[in-house]
Amino acid sequence: MNKAPVLPGSTIGVLGSGQLGRMFAISARRMGYRVHTYSPDRDSPTGQIADVEIDAPYEDLDRVRQFASAVDVVTFEFENVPAPTAEAAAECTLVRPAGEVLHTTQHRLREKTFLRNHGFPVTRFEPIAVDADGGADDLCRVVSGFGPAILKTAGFGYDGKGQFRVETLAEAQAAWDAMGRQEAILEALVDFEAELSVVGVRGADGQCMFYAPSCNHHVAGILDVSFSPAPFGRQMANEAIRIARGILEQLNVTGVLCVEFFLTRDHTLLVNELAPRPHNSGHLTIDACVTSQFEQQLRSVCGLPLGSTEMLRPAAMANLLGDTWTGGEPKWEAALALPEVKLHLYGKSEPRPGRKMGHLAATAATAPLAERLVRKARSRLSR
Ligand code: ADP
Ligand code: MG
Repeated sequence: MNKAPVLPGSTIGVLGSGQLGRMFAISARRMGYRVHTYSPDRDSPTGQIADVEIDAPYEDLDRVRQFASAVDVVTFEFENVPAPTAEAAAECTLVRPAGEVLHTTQHRLREKTFLRNHGFPVTRFEPIAVDADGGADDLCRVVSGFGPAILKTAGFGYDGKGQFRVETLAEAQAAWDAMGRQEAILEALVDFEAELSVVGVRGADGQCMFYAPSCNHHVAGILDVSFSPAPFGRQMANEAIRIARGILEQLNVTGVLCVEFFLTRDHTLLVNELAPRPHNSGHLTIDACVTSQFEQQLRSVCGLPLGSTEMLRPAAMANLLGDTWTGGEPKWEAALALPEVKLHLYGKSEPRPGRKMGHLAATAATAPLAERLVRKARSRLSR
């Protein structure tokens, strides 16, 4: 396979068509690339920016091969792309990161097992398998004596979906029924002081670069607000970056990968999960850093030198979920009257509750000031 850099003027294929692909496509178009996107959707956030939008099922491997043959490199913005889809694409062109990275990170059990086997710190966990008779003997065996835990589906989870907080066997049984009796992971509940994340990028030559850690607040399992730099000091930032570097290297990633961490009350870091792509907590890099996480994704998958991750100004990001539209069209002009606030909308027409429709970003002299500003801007949106 040709490993020469994929230069501007070439065409990039994106598997998936959500907001991550949209922001990637904006970066790619800015640098003179063409973009094709493939997903089962039409008029998608990515498709609105791309040159070509292919609307077909991931399982249609002939269409996938056709798509891959028409581009110079394939990447993805959605890690739940089925493995055979990534393999079919790889028969026809370069795929970065490799399907192996996708395989490990799209399944919570494989991901946590990988992390534990390679010595990265994770909370205690146990696999819950489906028995031949459709029951889960593991659940009964494991739950007693486990303490407060979270039961999560092994596959296809995002934004807190497919997760249940459980303590008793009765709760665990009910949760397992509610998730449709599928393979799962039981994780010990972490009593954390804070959540943070590190977005890293690894180039085709193995060079790694990292953004300053973000501090992340979730509401109902969905990221709500991030700000960076996170307020835990140099040493903690270095430790988070050291762990992230180890993961990028051990997984042999070419591309962007985000590591989500818990900071426990006794100030140790545990890895929560990995995302083998730009991350919601890294959206603030668009407005705050020399090179955004999306441009880094482009540079790495194209085999170009990476850009500087330097943060020009502390920043914060607030998600806009569909709930923001409950009272009608948000008052954009009121938020934008704060001149340091930037609006990013993803081109989704239906504002369903819990759906990520866009985000606001703000930069300021300090991260707490930026956070205050972005929250203020968001509160101005409601009618
Ligand atoms: P998702 O793929 O939905 O982001 P996560 O595993 O990151 O899934 O879980 C979403 C959020 O739920 C986390 O950011 C955290 O706030 C909470 N959470 C998940 N697992 C645990 C845990 N073991 N202990 C405490 N909180 C957790
Ligand atoms: Mg998460």
